[in-house]
Amino acid sequence: MAEIRRCIGSTRYGIEAHEAPVEDFPAQPSQKDGLGRMCKTHWNQYTAGLARDARARKVAEAETELQAAAVPDTEAAVPVESKRPRKRKGAKATTLPEETSEATADAG
Ligand SMILES: [Zn+2]
Repeated sequence: MAEIRRCIGSTRYGIEAHEAPVEDFPAQPSQKDGLGRMCKTHWNQYTAGLARDARARKVAEAETELQAAAVPDTEAAVPVESKRPRKRKGAKATTLPEETSEATADAG
């Protein structure tokens, strides 16, 4: 018995939601049930559409969108913060680099 799964489609790219056999869905370990939310054909169309859009904007944004589409909603809701440590302003570089390489002409 072939299980039927719902392909969510994408209104943004004119992909209609429909039902398809489970084997038509790509494996996606990040999903709760390990399967993508769109069938292979539509997933390809969707990602291709995203990539096309993103090329007009930024590559980095495309990756974010693709990742957001790939993860479950609960995980996608987690805000992305850049945890870059600030540069300390008060720290002056007063120590000069030590000279370790003194003349070692010992040969002979
Ligand atoms: Zn589909």
